[in-house]
Amino acid sequence: MHHITVVGSGTMGNGIAHTFAQSGYRVSLVDVSKEALKRALSSIETNLDRQIIKQTLTEDAKTTTLNNIKIFTDLQAATVNAELVIEAATENFDTKIKLFKDLDHLCLPETILATNTSSISITKLASVTSRPERVIGMHFMNPVPIMKLVEVIKGFTTNNEVTSIITQTAKELGKQPVVVNDYPGFIANRILMPMINEAIYSLYEGVAGVVEIDTIMKLGMAHPMGPLQLADFIGLDVCLAILNVLHQGFGNPKYAPCPLLINMVAAKNLGIKTKIGFYDYSSGTKDLKVSTRFHS
Ligand code: NAD
Repeated sequence: MHHITVVGSGTMGNGIAHTFAQSGYRVSLVDVSKEALKRALSSIETNLDRQIIKQTLTEDAKTTTLNNIKIFTDLQAATVNAELVIEAATENFDTKIKLFKDLDHLCLPETILATNTSSISITKLASVTSRPERVIGMHFMNPVPIMKLVEVIKGFTTNNEVTSIITQTAKELGKQPVVVNDYPGFIANRILMPMINEAIYSLYEGVAGVVEIDTIMKLGMAHPMGPLQLADFIGLDVCLAILNVLHQGFGNPKYAPCPLLINMVAAKNLGIKTKIGFYDYSSGTKDLKVSTRFHS
């Protein structure tokens, strides 16, 4: 496989494009927003520079990686010659259904259509295409260039050949693929999101403050970051969207998103991407500062 298309150039799309391009793939990166594409290229360049400082990348490899990425705002132009498409657009069911219909129409019949969705049913996305056996979940973790895991989600109709092409591709990127079946939240988010939601409920009910909750989970469970900081990192809108999928998919009230999370998303306190969430990122420093809203 030589040519891939990444749809959506946000947090995940730029990391996926970076990772494939660094492994020698030609990457077409497409987004509806020119601004998002501009931000993506700048993030990729900053992240490549970090690798150079850590001496894990040479200047030449940086140039080759950047040359391997072409940006587009037009889906048709971006998918010419694509052997694999990885959809990493906003976590919204209607957006993804429309994209899968369009991709099915535009791409060659043998093109594999993968999605980086955190929770939306692969089987439902596959069902709106004429190639349900060639639709699969390829769920990268954030930040993509660093995190080893790729959760490969086999839809109800995905065939074994496609599953093995995708696991092989993940290995070629230096990642560790793990294959799971297609049920709400798959494995990673089915387990992670109830923990994040419970942390938000604990804050909402006044059991403890932001720092106390995160410190307990960091030091007590050896997690590299606390659940509230992790939620800011993932994006609170993404967390809410995943919890809604779990809640609707299982019909179990234990997945109901905390009202505080719903309020924060409505107020655009989305975490790092809007510079304010449980913590305040407006100063741009590495020191964590709790949002004034949660000062006791
Ligand atoms: P994001 O909001 O940072 O970026 C989404 C991008 O998609 C935006 O730039 C938006 O302009 C673009 N977009 C929306 N509709 C589009 C369309 N029709 N065509 C092309 N581009 C379109 O979101 P993200 O955090 O990068 O998440 C992307 C996907 O990855 C989601 O499905 C999410 O669930 C999943 N995911 C996110 C994380 C995470 O930590 N953020 C981790 C794993 C998986």
